[in-house]
Amino acid sequence: MTRFYENYQRVLENVEKACNRVNRDISEITVVAVSKTFPVEVIKEAYEAGIRIFGENYAQELRDKSKFLKDYDISWHFIGRIQLNKLKYIVPVSDLIHSVSRLEELEKIDLLAEKFNKIQEILIQVNISGEETKSGLKPELIRDFIYKSKDFKNIRIVGLMTMAPFTDDEKIIRKVFSDLRKLRDDLIKDFPEIRHLSMGMSNDYQIAVEEGATILRIGTAIFGERKYDN
Ligand SMILES: *Cc1c(COP(=O)(O)O)cnc(C)c1O
Repeated sequence: MTRFYENYQRVLENVEKACNRVNRDISEITVVAVSKTFPVEVIKEAYEAGIRIFGENYAQELRDKSKFLKDYDISWHFIGRIQLNKLKYIVPVSDLIHSVSRLEELEKIDLLAEKFNKIQEILIQVNISGEETKSGLKPELIRDFIYKSKDFKNIRIVGLMTMAPFTDDEKIIRKVFSDLRKLRDDLIKDFPEIRHLSMGMSNDYQIAVEEGATILRIGTAIFGERKYDN
């Protein structure tokens, strides 16, 4: 077995335990393996370990890896900061874009999705914690954003995404996740398609599961520490 098999199984076990604590079924949860900065050889090994959904942060890296691995049955998610001029690399290959928060991005994604003959599923990134440095829309602007998105025929918003603040304080993290969930629970009454919650990374995914996450974005706990010197 490849070196990632055990890590992945350990993550799945922890997800299952967290599910059991709050009476959820593990089938409600999708684990996205965040492979940013790792070479395609690493993704191939992870694939051998049974992983099929990979998340990438950088547009060209996503383009190159997906091209290289085009014969693999892989679903790619884009989770990084969006630059408008790089969307042309993202839209053709991404099953889900997690990090949309601006109208210009909707416009561009819609045009590209039409060109590539697809309906692009996206999540709205929400700045729940209110930190200046965090990207994402303020919660009070989400409703208006969803209304405006209805103009774009090749886009489907299927949920919300957030990142917890960088802290060890579990209470703060939990509050961010439960606030995102409350926002979703409020929106879903009017927009039944807004059902996913992408929240939880290596350090906090068990809390995220307890608070209702449907999509986890996990890098380090599967692949080990990233080196940024490549
Ligand atoms: C890198 C990254 C992750 C994965 O982080 P880990 O702590 O390695 O699990 C998840 N989400 C986003 C948006 C990221 O940039």
